Amino acid sequence: MRILVLGGDGYLGWPTALHLSDCGHEVAVVDNFARRAYDHEMGVRSLVPVEPLQVRVDAWREVSGQDIKMYYGDLVDADFTVEMIRDFRPDTIVHFAEQRAAPYSMIDRKHAVYTQHNNVIGNLNVLFAIEEVDPSIHLVKLGTMGEYGTPNIDIEEGWLEVTHKGRTDRMLYPKKPGSFYHLSKVHDSHNIEFACRIWGLRATDLNQGVVYGQETPQTARDPRLATRFDYDAIFGTVLNRFVIQAVLGHPLTVYGTGGQTRGVIDIRDTVECIRLAAENPADPGEFRVFNQMTESFSVEEIAKTVANNYHGTVEVEYLENPRVEQDQHYYNVVHTGLVDLGLDPHLLSNTLINSLFGVAEQFKDRVDLAAMRPTVQWRTAASPMRTEGS
Ligand code: NAD
Repeated sequence: MRILVLGGDGYLGWPTALHLSDCGHEVAVVDNFARRAYDHEMGVRSLVPVEPLQVRVDAWREVSGQDIKMYYGDLVDADFTVEMIRDFRPDTIVHFAEQRAAPYSMIDRKHAVYTQHNNVIGNLNVLFAIEEVDPSIHLVKLGTMGEYGTPNIDIEEGWLEVTHKGRTDRMLYPKKPGSFYHLSKVHDSHNIEFACRIWGLRATDLNQGVVYGQETPQTARDPRLATRFDYDAIFGTVLNRFVIQAVLGHPLTVYGTGGQTRGVIDIRDTVECIRLAAENPADPGEFRVFNQMTESFSVEEIAKTVANNYHGTVEVEYLENPRVEQDQHYYNVVHTGLVDLGLDPHLLSNTLINSLFGVAEQFKDRVDLAAMRPTVQWRTAASPMRTEGS
């Protein structure tokens, strides 16, 4: 298959491109390097050094003999997007290319507007380009479990059968997201479902849980193939951040009581889920949704798991929650679609956590301790670190 990976320079896009290439697919990646620019803006960096995309692509050719084609451009530029798709002629487009940090979207007006403009308009341009170039292209789009929030009923895979006043219909599952970033994903899901319904496009929306881990069999083949590992309070996902805090002897920073429960997934399963979705496409006109997570844990359980596995002393510090979220709630998610396609999940294990301790030990001198304190406040429209007017 010819597969175009949007956001192919990112934490997940790069290892996914390698996995698909390793499985024999013809792969191209596109990126505008926005993620590298956020590092400069926030004064943070990946714990593990990452090479420029050109170096990564050359290294992959050296170790695997496989070529990955590269495009540089912005999905918000509609002409670029359509020309790239016309040029590569993919069977499948995997769309990772969005601003993906909830705290970043909550800094102030400028960051909220940027996030929704970048994500919603970029995704719309992809939908229009598919319709124009070849409506049979399968769109595999990364959404998030955060679209659903924490409703007091079971979370189904995207759709809900509703009976109201004696009549029944299959409706999109109601969403209650927790940030302007998560809202951008909800808007994307609605736009994609609409495009499937009116133009007959085919799409798979993957509502992904919080990803942990840093290595896949392909990135491990050469240090130049490494993917990012973020630990700061804006971009660091929870388990990755706790691992680094443990290694540094820094308390694990749990927000609120830590009772908030989230779906999680190992990075090796992320890349495999994308392969499974791509190789088993949705039908024309179908808006297919999978909940791409394998287990759920409360934040406090994650902190305790990390602390129990670390060989040294680990403290847990309960901070006032900067976010507005329930910390005691019902959470029961249906996630059978990808398992039915053949996913054999890696569940959170001591081996994985120990290997992450190793990565953190190796690069701990690169850590900026101050970057781990949360500075973005949900309860005000302008966080202390706002950059409005600057
Ligand atoms: P990331 O920021 O590392 O990667 C996204 C990439 O897209 C970056 O390289 C960025 O430069 C690029 N990009 C952003 N806007 C672009 C644009 N307009 N044009 C071209 N390129 C653009 O993020 P990630 O952690 O790899 O996440 C990838 C996707 O998966 C995101 O859509 C995210 O919402 C989703 N997701 C991630 C997680 C997680 O835990 N990391 C969890 C759930 C969902």
